Amino acid sequence: MSRAILTLNAGSSSIKFALYEMAAKGLRRRLSHGQIEGIGSAPHLVARDAAGAILSEHRWAADAKLDHEALLTPLLAWITAHLGEESLAAVGHRVVHGGEHWDRPVRLTPAVIADLAKLIPLAPLHQPHDLAAVEAVARLRPRLPQVACFDTAFHHGMAPTVSRLALPREFAAEGMRRYGFHGLSYEYLAGQLREQAPALAAGRVIAAHLGNGASLCAMHDGHSIDTTMGFTALDGLVMGTRCGNLDPGAVLYLLQEHGLSVSAVEHMLYNESGLLGVSGISNDMRTLLDSSDPHAYEAIDLFVFRIAREIGALTSSLGGLDGLVFSAGIGEHSAPIRAAVCARLAWLGVECDGDANTRHATVVSMPSSRVQVRVIPTDEEAMIATHTMNVLYPVTARSTQEESRVSSPVSRR
Ligand code: AMP
Repeated sequence: MSRAILTLNAGSSSIKFALYEMAAKGLRRRLSHGQIEGIGSAPHLVARDAAGAILSEHRWAADAKLDHEALLTPLLAWITAHLGEESLAAVGHRVVHGGEHWDRPVRLTPAVIADLAKLIPLAPLHQPHDLAAVEAVARLRPRLPQVACFDTAFHHGMAPTVSRLALPREFAAEGMRRYGFHGLSYEYLAGQLREQAPALAAGRVIAAHLGNGASLCAMHDGHSIDTTMGFTALDGLVMGTRCGNLDPGAVLYLLQEHGLSVSAVEHMLYNESGLLGVSGISNDMRTLLDSSDPHAYEAIDLFVFRIAREIGALTSSLGGLDGLVFSAGIGEHSAPIRAAVCARLAWLGVECDGDANTRHATVVSMPSSRVQVRVIPTDEEAMIATHTMNVLYPVTARSTQEESRVSSPVSRR
């Protein structure tokens, strides 16, 4: 058995993971993936093989108060049993915030971890969990190299005008600016587009990561020019439970007129808004599409309207539009949502091919469409594993300069 890389994506209620087999020049294949879900209620670990069959399961007592070390212990034990004692080469982490300094993946040392902990106030709902997983692995396997891959890094080159907030200058000095997120997904999509359609990838493209979290990224020649998420991952599009773009005066109103606490407003904006808040039914797009309730329709209509409006804004940032890429749960799987977004973009010359769209073809626009519309499945885990390998083994991982422009060389199956 050759050596493997484990990727971890730790959140407040779940830890997603994937295991990749390494080859001399990249990743050979994904061996396993799964998650520990129900953290805080009924924790449950499940690891699956590439075909989805269950390889390992572990359940803890309901309501067990477990830290990341307790949660990751059975996962690492299973990997050792599954692969052998020396087979795990490294762990790559998704870390949501790299702040102003970290613009690329980095090997984690105590000094780097301490620096990333200073960014907790910028991402209080995500960064503590990411770092707790890092510290748990460091305690459980002190000699295992770990790498942080940042969701903000892909947007690091955005121009100052794009990243500036119109607040008094002193707040910029403490890091208040637009950062953008979903960067690992956009980097993966940029790499895939470069392989599939190099001429289009060199042009002006908007990628739409439409999942439970949702955002858009305007890319020129594969580089992020602008994006809809900003200082936090609340900004931009309507999401499953997040409000997206909101007049700051609305927050003041909730605080002043409703007497809500800051944490109650935070909970509302992150967990009770978006598709769930508007529909009053669900944050899940499938449920809403299946519903005949008019509030479900209103939530979907708002979701689509805001995507189209923001695509208009990002088209201005790019100075025109050559391509549109749909990705993530909704973007990859929902033909009606793609069709509805495209219909609102007819003024831009977007012509959806209804037949290709229903078949979930790779290209879902008509040959005559001025903007080519593609569907590309995203794979943030493969991006993390590729970065981890490139940071730790730069010589074997990069045989040519071209290969260092990481696309994902790994297949999911
Ligand atoms: P993600 O966060 O990328 O896993 O995406 C989750 C979202 O994708 C949820 O709103 C799901 O309802 C949605 N989704 C997944 N499959 C479909 C589908 N076939 N049609 C519509 N929405 C889907």
